[in-house]
Amino acid sequence: MKPLIVANWKMNPVSIKEAEKLFNSVKHGVEDIESAETVICPPFIYLPLLKGLVLGAQDCYWEEKGAYTGEVSVAMLKEIGCKYVLAGHSERRKLFGEKDNDVNKKVLTILDAGLIPILCVGETEQEREQEKTEEVLKEELEIGLVDVRDVSKVIVAYEPIWAIGTGNPCDVEEAQRMKEIIQKMVSKNIRILYGGSAKANNAEGYLKQAGFDGLLVGGASLDPKEFVKIVNTS
Ligand code: PEP
Repeated sequence: MKPLIVANWKMNPVSIKEAEKLFNSVKHGVEDIESAETVICPPFIYLPLLKGLVLGAQDCYWEEKGAYTGEVSVAMLKEIGCKYVLAGHSERRKLFGEKDNDVNKKVLTILDAGLIPILCVGETEQEREQEKTEEVLKEELEIGLVDVRDVSKVIVAYEPIWAIGTGNPCDVEEAQRMKEIIQKMVSKNIRILYGGSAKANNAEGYLKQAGFDGLLVGGASLDPKEFVKIVNTS
């Protein structure tokens, strides 16, 4: 399978005009690259406006419809053409109080709809210092994957929280070790992405040396030249 390079735009950019400009620059830059699958996860409101690249959503809710103010269902995301949905990004967990059980409901709902969940897991700096990384990953994976019948339909993103948005990426060797631990915990057949200050100058290490199946890219995905360079390394 081709490596998956996923752009998480988070709550950026601030206007439709800028979103279209960024999207079109990336689209133009990756149109001849066949070695990777490029996925853009913009804010929900831009999803229906962006055409010509594979789309993903940054989050979802597990109910199909109803009185859930502010939420977006997987059925809505499917209708609009999303293929992937992030579940349990660390910012959702930390800032919006998502728990492993919530993340699990999201994963199951995404799978039920025939879309592909990208389950985000990773340890904080403190957990790493206290050597609790494996414990944290185990819990996030065990609960996140409850009742999932075929784990090969789920993608896991290993995202050490201390590396997200800090410009301090995880060493390739350490990331590779975590990837192997996740494979041991879940299955050899699960696709695993790396995320955390991924850039053009470190992408190759994660993809070629550590053998990740792709990257989840935050900050660098807002710079079309940098992002296209990352896609090009695959
Ligand atoms: C992310 O938010 O998933 C992420 C990896 O961000 P960044 O690339 O900015 O560290």
